[in-house]
Amino acid sequence: MGQQKSSELAKVTNSGAILLGNIFEVDSFAGKPVRVVSHFHSDHTILLSKSGKFASHILATPATIEALPLMGFSLPEDKLLPLEYGRSIKFGEDSLVLVKSSHVIGSAQVLVETVDGSRVGYTGDFKFPGTKIMSDLDVLIIDATYGEETMVRPFKNEVDILFSDLVSELLSKGKPVIVKGYHGKLQEAMHIMRRFGVEAPFILPEKVYELTKLAEKHGLKVGNYFREGSEEAVEAIKGGWFVYLNHANSRKKTPFVASEVVLTGWFFSSPLKKIYENGSGERWVVALSDHADFEDTLYYVEEARPKKILIDAFRSSREIAEAFAKSVLRRLGKEAVVMPDSHGIEEED
Ligand SMILES: [Zn+2]
Repeated sequence: MGQQKSSELAKVTNSGAILLGNIFEVDSFAGKPVRVVSHFHSDHTILLSKSGKFASHILATPATIEALPLMGFSLPEDKLLPLEYGRSIKFGEDSLVLVKSSHVIGSAQVLVETVDGSRVGYTGDFKFPGTKIMSDLDVLIIDATYGEETMVRPFKNEVDILFSDLVSELLSKGKPVIVKGYHGKLQEAMHIMRRFGVEAPFILPEKVYELTKLAEKHGLKVGNYFREGSEEAVEAIKGGWFVYLNHANSRKKTPFVASEVVLTGWFFSSPLKKIYENGSGERWVVALSDHADFEDTLYYVEEARPKKILIDAFRSSREIAEAFAKSVLRRLGKEAVVMPDSHGIEEED
């Protein structure tokens, strides 16, 4: 540990900013010189336009920088600073590295090293495999969306193939399939379906289409996907053999009858479940998550062995964050602090 107290080196503010060292605000505004965006989801782009005014730079992976306009942000071009995974950049006396994480296209963990050698890191949203564990940290700030001991997906290694087989089976019954999920997860879902033999064309609304193009540019294989309204899409819809991918919150009525598969992380009892079946088709939920479950979150802490652990209670529920802190204490014998809370912010160590 260097001269700075760890409580000053890393914290989660009441507005959800992750502060690492003296220069960087991550995922929300805090008036710091440099804004970092761990990934393009809305709970990680809080007050981004405000940072666009006040910060000198907006820093993220190239894929995230390119995704921001698609998510509706118009930021000053000259402030945008794309940084590849693993490259170090120095501002003032602090240096920063974006570390690969598996969550959505372009998602990153943030690692900061201060002049006195202190190392502080924020996981952002992550899951395994594909997330590199940051070690030798003085402070680790971890996301614990599914931090309760019951939130375990023992089937998580099989769900990809089960999901793809379900889509194939529903298509074989003669109706198209609608897959619903969040941005980023939809692109991963398409990649998974292609890997496990779903060959039907994918029809995508504008925003999903643009994000898919971006994902392919950055290395995710999908193929055979079309913008809704294009000639190819119209043809495919006439033929009745296609998969339509739609954002989970979209209220848009689709002009065709289809089976529906909803992708959700909030489901733990089985990989798949049929909700109902009626004349217009079947409706299923699939437990495909882009977040670590409880066991994987605990595994991260165990492997990283940080000197101090902070749990982000701004993005996950406070109850879950507190339950995770208890589990860390009981299972790993380590103290973990939930932040922000009424005491945590002013707390000295
Ligand atoms: Zn996310």
